Amino acid sequence: MIQDILPKRLNNVFDPAREAGEDDFVVCVLGQELMLKGEEWHAEFPRRKEFSGNLNLLYLFSVEENAYYLALEEGLPEEAAGGTYRTLRDMRYRLKGPRDTMYAAYTAWHLALWYRDNRYCGRCGHSTRPHERERALVCPSCGHVIYPRLIPAVIVGVIHGDEILMTKYANRPMSFYALVAGFTEIGETLEECVAREVMEEAGLRVKNLRYYKSQPWGSVQDLLMGFFCDVDGDATIHMDPDELKEARWVHRKDILGQTDDWSLTHEMMMAFREGRYPEK
Ligand SMILES: [Zn+2]
Repeated sequence: MIQDILPKRLNNVFDPAREAGEDDFVVCVLGQELMLKGEEWHAEFPRRKEFSGNLNLLYLFSVEENAYYLALEEGLPEEAAGGTYRTLRDMRYRLKGPRDTMYAAYTAWHLALWYRDNRYCGRCGHSTRPHERERALVCPSCGHVIYPRLIPAVIVGVIHGDEILMTKYANRPMSFYALVAGFTEIGETLEECVAREVMEEAGLRVKNLRYYKSQPWGSVQDLLMGFFCDVDGDATIHMDPDELKEARWVHRKDILGQTDDWSLTHEMMMAFREGRYPEK
């Protein structure tokens, strides 16, 4: 998965006093794009020394010896040392690797959007500023504290013997198979979310829910939680055509997976195909 970068680790300990060195990476986000340089499999973020002039930098995290800083919007550079602005989608399907740079990009994107979208207090409208002791924004006028937003979502491998429920979304450009997935609602447990999503998308009841793995998916600000479960009773699919264009049972030997191994969805499909998932 995208976060599997061992032996490297992403260190997100909050350290606001950390000062950017000349070789540290700078994250520039403009609209729906993020600046990267280099070519396929050799992409990296531009470094501090490649920018001329002043930058307003905020420390985000580090991966081993490489620290990443967000360039705040005032004076955001158009380009630096051949860097170009790219969408995450372009980065995933055209630019690719190395893995730790891609994971840093997803994580930096998540943080950058949170900072950008919370420049003003939602309670009183005053400008916010970074909290001094933790990853948060604080309103100096009314004291409102805004913590980073993570959207909890579930991915579900629904199993029926040697088959798993696979779906294709309606109205989306990607055409590869996915698993049932959805966002948790306020006032709902993860277990209830799994049952509701499977019922809504495929009209199936489920039982024997077991947790598998999780994944931070920064491109859409999610924290994904993957579960396997079994069909309870009738295995006839009643698909929701508003959400899906296809839903069917796929035998484990026929599972192809996605075009890369970044996603928890792909990981769960392969785990089922290879029999390395919690069976009970
Ligand atoms: Zn306020």
